[in-house]
Amino acid sequence: MRNVIRVRCLASVVAVSWITIGAAQQPPRQAAPAAGGKKLALVGGMLLTGYEVPPIHHATVVVEGNKIVAAGPSSEVKVPADATVVDTSGRTMLPGLIETHGHLVVLGHGAYETWFPWIAAHGGDAMLTKVMEISARQLLMAGVTTTVDLGAPLKPILSIRDRINKGELVGTRVLASGPWLSRGAGGAMQAGFGGMNITSPEDAAQKVDELAKAGVDHIKAHSGLTRDDYKAIVAAAHKNRIRVYSHVYAETDVRNALEAGVDVLQHVGSAGTAPPYSKELITDIVNAGRPVVVTAAHRAWIYEDTAAFPERLQDPDLKKAFGPEIYAEVQNSLKSWWTLGYFQRTDREMLFRERGVKQFIESGAVMGMGTDSGTPMNFHSEALWREIKVHVDMGMTPSRAIAAATRVNAQAIGKGRELGSIEPGKIADIIVVNGNPNFDITALSHVEVVVKDGVVYKGGGAAESRPPSTANGAK
Ligand SMILES: [Zn+2]
Ligand SMILES: [Zn+2]
Repeated sequence: MRNVIRVRCLASVVAVSWITIGAAQQPPRQAAPAAGGKKLALVGGMLLTGYEVPPIHHATVVVEGNKIVAAGPSSEVKVPADATVVDTSGRTMLPGLIETHGHLVVLGHGAYETWFPWIAAHGGDAMLTKVMEISARQLLMAGVTTTVDLGAPLKPILSIRDRINKGELVGTRVLASGPWLSRGAGGAMQAGFGGMNITSPEDAAQKVDELAKAGVDHIKAHSGLTRDDYKAIVAAAHKNRIRVYSHVYAETDVRNALEAGVDVLQHVGSAGTAPPYSKELITDIVNAGRPVVVTAAHRAWIYEDTAAFPERLQDPDLKKAFGPEIYAEVQNSLKSWWTLGYFQRTDREMLFRERGVKQFIESGAVMGMGTDSGTPMNFHSEALWREIKVHVDMGMTPSRAIAAATRVNAQAIGKGRELGSIEPGKIADIIVVNGNPNFDITALSHVEVVVKDGVVYKGGGAAESRPPSTANGAK
């Protein structure tokens, strides 16, 4: 669809209607921003607010500057005379998606042992920067307006984050951990993702302090850590007012992370190394209200999906996004993808995959959505809708799955006041998709309009409002 963009002049005065929300789910109490910002209105489509309530049909969302100032039925929301109007008729508007587990340093290449040396041999830091720019752009164009990066060399990832925030680069909003913390790790993966080994809880706390001082947004606690390590990491991170995400699979590690106060449990239930957890552990996670992010799709489902449709690896959008040199290298790495080391335990993961996801859905755990995007065959352009689809296939309602990927994710990452829903006072991260995701969740793969921070980056006349620099390759 090519959106009609026009300036609308409304003479009639219609009362502005705020979305009403149940007392249990209070919206942020911020006042609407002061007048003066550029105005934008998305008009006509169905609106999913990020809350698990029925959609608002034929809705209008008004944005001023980078904030949402009104959202509701078009009959009740006044479109300012000087607003740029994006016609969303026949489409669905929903909050920008949030990815709580991304990796910008990888693009779906088959093997870390060859990918990172290839980067080193093809420009080093310059190529790494190019790769991260491509990832950030792919994510944004897929409707992922915020991405929590969980493992990347410190300076390059902070530089990407800051350039995007300054509007120098088109990409998803990045929140970065920089290097992850682990014990006794080595090899190409540890080096490529900039992993740092700790030697004691004291050492862990010191490294957290250093990372916080360097400006990271959160800490990724990776593998091999003890209960005391987690405690030290959590204490140091919380002292610095940042959150901790743990990479945990085995029951003991999950329990250690849970009891040490790790903020989000990542990967839980996604691997054959950890068949469904004990009832006690699930109950404790649920009672603690601790968010879990299963990262279900990336091996156990994507393997099967690729076997069924290997053509997905030659998606022309990938070719366009990567450019010929990177595309050729990624293609080369995936020629015999089923032989890759990354997939050698996938048979076991597939055995447990359904129970792994259902144990949390059926217990009522707080579930966010994250995908490990960028890992082998798990392209940034589609990782999140695939993950959401798996959750829906496993019994989560589409409405809850969308809330998980937006509002719940925002809360899990500590941004619940600013991000994750379409309501006055929130930052204007809005996407428009073709179709009704409540009927068919794969509508989320058809993202036609992307608004981030009040700026239209895709569809809806994006060229007119895109930041001046498109250094990361417009077309
Ligand atoms: Zn991880
Ligand atoms: Zn990861």
